[in-house]
Amino acid sequence: MPSGRLATRLRALAGDDGVVDHPDALAVYECDGYTLERATPELVVLPRTPAAVAAVVRLLWDEQIAFVPRGAGTGLSGGTLPVHAPVMICTSRLNRIEAIDRTNRRVVAQAGVVNQWVSNAVRDAGLHYAPDPSSQPACTIGGNVAENSGGPHTLKYGVTTNHVLGVELVLPDGQVVTLGGPVEDRPGYDLVGLVVGSEGTFGLVTRATLRLTRSPEDYRTLLAVFDSIDAASEAVSGIIASGVVPAALEMMDRLILGAVEAAYHVGLPTDAGAVLLVELDGPAVGLDDQMARVERVCRGQGARELRLARDDAERAALWKARKRAFGAVGRLAPSYCTQDGVVPRTRVPDIVRAIAAAGERHQIRIGNVFHAGDGNIHPILLFDERDPGEVERVLAAGRDILEACVALGGSITGEHGIGVEKAAQMPLLFSPDDLLAMTRLRAVFDPAQRANPHKIFPDAKVCVETRTPRRRAAV
Ligand SMILES: Cc1cc2nc3c(=O)[nH]c(=O)nc-3n(C[C@H](O)[C@H](O)[C@H](O)COP(=O)(O)OP(=O)(O)OC[C@H]3O[C@@H](n4cnc5c(N)ncnc54)[C@H](O)[C@@H]3O)c2cc1C
Repeated sequence: MPSGRLATRLRALAGDDGVVDHPDALAVYECDGYTLERATPELVVLPRTPAAVAAVVRLLWDEQIAFVPRGAGTGLSGGTLPVHAPVMICTSRLNRIEAIDRTNRRVVAQAGVVNQWVSNAVRDAGLHYAPDPSSQPACTIGGNVAENSGGPHTLKYGVTTNHVLGVELVLPDGQVVTLGGPVEDRPGYDLVGLVVGSEGTFGLVTRATLRLTRSPEDYRTLLAVFDSIDAASEAVSGIIASGVVPAALEMMDRLILGAVEAAYHVGLPTDAGAVLLVELDGPAVGLDDQMARVERVCRGQGARELRLARDDAERAALWKARKRAFGAVGRLAPSYCTQDGVVPRTRVPDIVRAIAAAGERHQIRIGNVFHAGDGNIHPILLFDERDPGEVERVLAAGRDILEACVALGGSITGEHGIGVEKAAQMPLLFSPDDLLAMTRLRAVFDPAQRANPHKIFPDAKVCVETRTPRRRAAV
């Protein structure tokens, strides 16, 4: 169907202002947080209700048109790139928290609700929604479900999959199914667990029932300053080995510290090799003893300074610096690419060395800011996208880092998903039989590959442009 006629039919379902088809406006949707590859959809639809989403998807099914779901577009693996999927369905208008049950600690939120809004809505009852990606002021619950997102505090509390009780899913033919529900431990296969992390390839999630967590009675937040990233990495292993389970254990290296301090002025030591941000939480009794153990480990690894946040304001300032670190990176280079991998926690020192070696080998500056306690690494590769040679070297360094993660017993993604970015690396972890089994599983939900096609699996790299003039995905 010509895109003009399709737009008219979609407007009938999503409202006159519910379809974007002007090329200038469409440019907003040409990439997500992974900017190395770009492709523009032909049309973007912004339905206001779950029922309207189902109607839109049904129309696309009838017309044999594939679609790509999009939340806030903060994804870091190119999951929202339209690859042979001309229509993008954006959930930003599905923004209602539909029900709050403080007694049973649950919330029903539409897919486009911003992560942070959930905790804001229940704070008065001493509750919060535990998965806290650093992008939480922007990213959506639907995106979190699709990526099985983590965050600084998921070290202790578990990632998204541990907090989603149920989802409403619009299948690619427009059928609406409800999986899971308000009660825990339902019999049968864990279909909710399957949908969480499926990166939009099973359909579009319109609602989720989320578990709420009681907010801790008290916190201790420590900034441990080290002369080298090696020493800080060894301290990470030491803290975990000591038996203390921090709520969060984050690392920033010198390059990142310089950028963050220049942006936010929170008094970070810009001459340090690296800092650890260690947070303990729980009942006030016992926190000081646990923090004393953490401090002993840090001193044992040569920490030159230990700064305990004295009040909520100091704690908030440290977290602001950490959670906005990506935002400060623009001071370091015109472009950057965040890699994401994971290694067993005890191998953090090894992967940090491997990252430095990859940077040297390919002559790329790399900063590190990551959820060290989980073994999740986020090396930030700095470059200038106008220099094709540098882009190639960034891609090569990224590949080396992922290979090192796998060689150390880890995986090619800690939390950002596969998207288009890492599809080619899936065979590092999975045999052809494994991949075939996964594509068959996907086919149970989406036999015609209409929902976010060409993602996750190694055929993904088709029809997108690498930093060159944008191409539009045609209807
Ligand atoms: C500054 C910054 C910090 C970040 N920090 C973290 C972090 O600490 N931890 C972490 O895990 N990630 C982090 N991320 C990555 C990103 O924020 C998460 O992956 C987030 O969950 C994406 O949500 P979104 O709404 O932006 O989704 P989008 O980017 O819009 O989409 C992501 C994927 O989900 C699919 N999708 C979106 N909505 C739906 C839906 N309703 N149904 C089905 N599929 C859907 C899309 O098709 C795509 O494949 C960070 C990103 C940035 C830019």
